Formats: sequence, structure tokens, C-alpha cells
Amino acid sequence: MHELFTTGNIILKTLVSHGYKGYFVGGCVRDYHMGRSISDVDITTDALPEDIERIFRHTIDVGKTHGTIIVLVEDVPFEVTTFRTESEYSDFRRPDAVTFTRDLHSDLERRDFTMNAMAMDGDFDIIDPYNGMEAISDRMITTVGQASERFGEDALRILRAARFASQLQFEVANDTKRAMAQHAENLRHVAVERSVTELTKLYMGQDPNGAKALMADTHLNRYLPFFDKVDDASFLRTDVRSLECELALQIHLAPELKQALPALKLSNTIKTNIGNTLRLLAMIDSSSIRNLAYSFDDRVLEKTADMIQMNPYLENGNRMSRLKSAQTTKPGLPIADASEIELDGNALMSHFNARGGPWIRVVLSAVEQEILDGRLDNDRDKIIEWVRAHVEYEAGNI
Ligand code: ATP
Ligand code: MG
Repeated sequence: MHELFTTGNIILKTLVSHGYKGYFVGGCVRDYHMGRSISDVDITTDALPEDIERIFRHTIDVGKTHGTIIVLVEDVPFEVTTFRTESEYSDFRRPDAVTFTRDLHSDLERRDFTMNAMAMDGDFDIIDPYNGMEAISDRMITTVGQASERFGEDALRILRAARFASQLQFEVANDTKRAMAQHAENLRHVAVERSVTELTKLYMGQDPNGAKALMADTHLNRYLPFFDKVDDASFLRTDVRSLECELALQIHLAPELKQALPALKLSNTIKTNIGNTLRLLAMIDSSSIRNLAYSFDDRVLEKTADMIQMNPYLENGNRMSRLKSAQTTKPGLPIADASEIELDGNALMSHFNARGGPWIRVVLSAVEQEILDGRLDNDRDKIIEWVRAHVEYEAGNI
């Protein structure tokens, strides 16, 4: 039994002992029955948010108005959500009103796909009114209720279908697939952060290429920021295992796409990673192996090598081997970064009794290159000697 269920069961039992119902629900029930690894366990209950806060000692209010409270057990957070139904959708994404209910079945009915609409009690008995188990054994993604209606309520579900197709390697049922295409346009109204979350999971799943083919089939890519600027052939041409690599590669192949990137509102980390990959692809043929090794961390070197291997049209005969050499050269470099140079800007100024200015950066970067290329030892006195010999100066004025 997975530890998270054992700990989560403490919550279920506590709810029951207070006269409430409590169930594991959604993705964790699906993954449990598929034998997949479980990353988080969600709980659903008829207890109202204020009841939950009263019953449990450690709680965090993360969305009380929508019925969600985090309960901490042994420092592990569990999302505990009150049974609810959702009514009146208007902006294709967020329900206008949340109505709490005492009935588990109505809570399961609002969920997206049958495989995600199962609950499991503290004895691991399953409640499956929409035949989610059958969908799992058929490896089939099917909406709860009429697909067209469900996608009309919330367009994010369309992208979630493609995400699950990649993660679980399931097929999409015909009517569900037809409705995906029919409502694809409404993806325009979905908050980009939510689309990016689903796309990130899609690319990290088992079968991103299958999911991309499904996206193109149902035209989802036409209505997503950035991807709406990439034609189907270019979209399907790439073979990558992360959203970040997809974006970097598409921009590498069509640099004008860079202008479309801000529309995705990515985190700074992801933007930096994309920038580094693009810089590496731009320098790969012309820089020395040592400079490649010095300028890029292992992760970028490795991801880019994978990218070239998976997309043979990126290879020109020696890029892969240059990246491999850069990786093996890296640990033996005399310095790992500029902070390791034995003489810094302040020491340089005081030694030469000169004022600060752009010259410091120029001199230090020349020193850095000399050290990197093995022509100068990373030793304070040697560096000063080198600067004295190579930089013209008079006291106070370099
Ligand atoms: P993962 O393993 O990626 O967490 P998951 O199935 O748990 O997959 P979540 O996004 O964490 O997916 O959502 C939890 C559950 O909430 C889903 O299993 C589903 O029952 C329900 N759900 C989530 N998003 C929607 C939605 N847009 N419409 C309807 N139900 C949803
Ligand atoms: Mg989840």
C-alpha cells in the first residue's frame, strides 16, 4: 500500500468518526488501479470547509469559497474538498457558482473524464457510477456525460484529454474526440497558465508525439498562444520530451517565433533554459569545445545532445560529438566560472591603484579566457604579472 493512502486514511477515518463521509477521489484512484506511481492524494467529503477546519488541527485555507482546504497530517499536505456541483458556465473555464452538496455522485458527475470520476473509501472499496474502471481496462478517455456539453462548459478539459492521452497512453473515444475538435476554438478563452500546466504534463508524458498528432487532428494547436504561429507540419516535425525543448527547437527553426514566446507567460527559469538552449545551438559550430564546456551547464549540454539525437535534421556531422566532448571536458576545466578567478575587480583596482570602469570587465574577461585556454595559471601573482605585461597603464590611469 502506498504510504500516501495510509496517511490519507487517517483523514478519512477522522471524518467518518465525526459523522461525515470521506473518500479518496480523482487521479489517485485512477493511478492506484492502474498501478501507476502516486504523487498526491485528493480527498472529497460532505464536511463543509469550516467543519474541516474545526475537525483538523493543521489546515491551510487555499480556496475555501471553492471548498478546498489543505489538511496536514504528519507534515504531508492533502487537499480536502467539499462535495460540490458546478453550475452555469460562461467564460469557458471557471464555474460561476459553486454549490456544495451532500451527495458524492453529484461531485463525481462534475469531473472531466470517467477514469477521473471514481472515489474510494477507507476500506479501498470503489465507487464508480460512470464506469471508470471499464474505461481504464479499455484504455479509453471518455467524458462524464455528453462530451460536447462538457467541453462547452470548460475548454481546458479539451487540452486535458490530450495531456492524459500522452500520460496514460489511452485512446480518446470517438464522440469525445469529435467534441474536442468542435470546441477547440474555445481554448482561446482559457488562462494561459492553465494551458501551460497541461502542456508541460503532456510533453513529459509517455507519448508526447501521439498527443501532438491528436492535438493537430483536433486543431488544438491552432488556438494556443505561440503554437497558433506554428504550422502543423513544423509542429509535428519535432520530437522532444519537454515543453521547454519544444519551444526552443521551434524558435531555433523559425527565429521570428521568439516574439510569440511572451504570450505563454512562462516562469523565468523556463525562459532562461530556453535562452540557454538557443544560445548553445547558435554557438555549437563556431565555439571551441572548452568554451562550450565553460559556458553551459551539464543539463543544457545533455538536453541539447538528446534533442539533436532525436531530431536528426539538426545534425551536421559533428554537433553531437562536439557536445559529448564538451561534457567530458567540463570537469577538467581550470575554472568552473568567473567567481573562481583568483583576482577580482576590487583587487585589480587596488593593485593598479586605478578607478573602476568598463576596463575591469574587459581585463577580467581576457584573463578568464587565458586561464580557460590553459595559457595562464589561476594564481593571483601570475594574473597580476600577465595584466602588467598585456595592459598598458600608468599609475591611476589604465
Ligand atoms: P495528475 O496525476 O496529473 O494530478 P489528476 O487526475 O489528479 O492528474 P488534477 O488536475 O490533479 O488531475 O485534477 C484532480 C481531479 O479533479 C481530476 O482527476 C478530475 O476528477 C478533477 N478535475 C480537474 N480538472 C478538472 C476540470 N477542468 N473539469 C472537471 N474535472 C476536473
Ligand atoms: Mg492530481
